Amino acid sequence: MKTFDYNCKFCGNPGTVEGDEAGLHMFKPEVWLPKMACNRCGKYLEEKRRQMTDLFKACRVLQMCRASKSEKVKAIEEQTRDKLEILTKRFSTLVCDYYRLMNVWDREFPELLFEKPHAVEILAGVYIRGMAHEAKKAYA
Ligand SMILES: [Zn+2]
Repeated sequence: MKTFDYNCKFCGNPGTVEGDEAGLHMFKPEVWLPKMACNRCGKYLEEKRRQMTDLFKACRVLQMCRASKSEKVKAIEEQTRDKLEILTKRFSTLVCDYYRLMNVWDREFPELLFEKPHAVEILAGVYIRGMAHEAKKAYA
C-alpha cells in the first residue's frame, strides 16, 4: 500500500489517498491526483447535484404549465410555487453550510425561479457564486 498526498481540487485542503501502488500507477497519479476532491467537497457536490435535479424538475413543470392552455394548470403552478420555496430553502442550507455562512435565504430566490424557470441553472449559479464571494470576504 502506498499513500498519495493531494490537495482538494475545490477547497485546496490537503488530503491523502491510499492504494495499491502498482494499481494506482497504472492510472497515472499525476493525472488523477489534481482531480481529487476531499470528503467534504465530494459530499457537497453529490448533494448539490441531487438538489439541482429536483429544482430542474420543478422548473420543468412550470415551463410545461406555461405552455399549456388548460385551466387546471393554475393549481399545479401554485403547488410548484410552494415546492420551490421548500427546495430553495434546502438548497440555501446546503450551500451556506458548505461555505460556513449563516443561512441566507431570500424570498426573491424562489420567486425569480417562478418567474424565470428556464433560467434555473443561471439563478442557482448566481446564488452559489454570491455565497462563495461572501465566504471569501468573511474568511479572508
Ligand atoms: Zn475540498
